[in-house]
Amino acid sequence: MSPEADRARVAANLARIRARIAEAAARAGRPADAVRLIAVSKTFGPEAVRAAHAAGQVDFGENKVQEALAKAEATRDLPLTWHLIGHLQRNKAKRAGASFPWIHTVDDPDLLLRLDAGAAEAARPLRLLLQVDLAGEATKFGAPPEAIRALLDRAADCRAATLVGLMVLPPWSDDPEASRPWFQRLRELRDQLLADGYPPAALAELSMGMSNDFEVAVEEGATIVRVGSAIFGARSAQPLAP
Ligand SMILES: *Cc1c(COP(=O)(O)O)cnc(C)c1O
Repeated sequence: MSPEADRARVAANLARIRARIAEAAARAGRPADAVRLIAVSKTFGPEAVRAAHAAGQVDFGENKVQEALAKAEATRDLPLTWHLIGHLQRNKAKRAGASFPWIHTVDDPDLLLRLDAGAAEAARPLRLLLQVDLAGEATKFGAPPEAIRALLDRAADCRAATLVGLMVLPPWSDDPEASRPWFQRLRELRDQLLADGYPPAALAELSMGMSNDFEVAVEEGATIVRVGSAIFGARSAQPLAP
């Protein structure tokens, strides 16, 4: 496809997704601007990011530190906000904390403090979300729900980072309704923590919903949806270099 056709396709996809988010929000009695759309550009190049930005997109998500930093560098002339949404290895945590304004995948206290150290050294603000492993899936990352309180308590030790909410990645299903109970459970966990007296600012965001289930997520209270293939197209099955 020509670059022009690519740009038009990305713009049309974004417009459709924004409309569907607004409709889902309206069904739940929520304003459309209560939901932040992250365009997940992993495996796609800087040109795809430029195409989305030209269509008004500001927030972008990546799941690998190296790939994200390269893409951010290649688009540094644009005012974009980068979200790291993939699992982080310990040895990349400090660099990540110094480089990204948002990280959605904090799942242990040591990682939290390393990210904070990176942000503090770089003198940059850092918003963090705690990834919750609701399903107890051995193959997935995230902290079990019973570990979330200890993580919230540790946030008091942070110098530059602030906790702003919770994130979940439900078990994969091609039926969007299969995700609904997981989204409800994340919201209920958030409500329980609020009832227990944890600060509302640390629990303001619910990052949940992807291409196949973002409308269900918005109906269940998502404040952030992470949408990739529905914007940019199918990702090739070819594995990326680590
Ligand atoms: C890849 C990815 C997404 C986007 O997935 P799509 O199905 O392409 O929308 C969202 N969240 C995380 C954590 C991801 O790794």
